[in-house]
Amino acid sequence: MRIEEHAKDVAKATARKSDMIFQHGAVIIQGGRVIATGCNYKNGYRWGNGNIFSVHAEIDAIEGTEIRGLRGATLVIYAESHGRQKLSRPCPNCLHILRKLGFRRVIFSTPSEWRKETIK
Ligand SMILES: [Zn+2]
Repeated sequence: MRIEEHAKDVAKATARKSDMIFQHGAVIIQGGRVIATGCNYKNGYRWGNGNIFSVHAEIDAIEGTEIRGLRGATLVIYAESHGRQKLSRPCPNCLHILRKLGFRRVIFSTPSEWRKETIK
């Protein structure tokens, strides 16, 4: 599907805006077009172990939308680190939010390909 291929390219470009070592880029497809994009970023807090707390790309993308309009949407998410494609399956917390908002599908990068899953 053409829109999905386009969204993958947009997700890659968006990931490269991230200020983190693992760069994630998320794109929301709704009604046959890209309606929002987001990347992960440092939010200034630190965990007790010193790790930096970050806002996930999915959440950054969702923040730019009218959330009632997300039912049936597809999330496309890509990750890379040092220029290499990485696994970008949404974490349990983001999956929970995507499900609550009615997203139907997620398309995510793995180190060697893209995978598509229905959100149940
Ligand atoms: Zn997440």
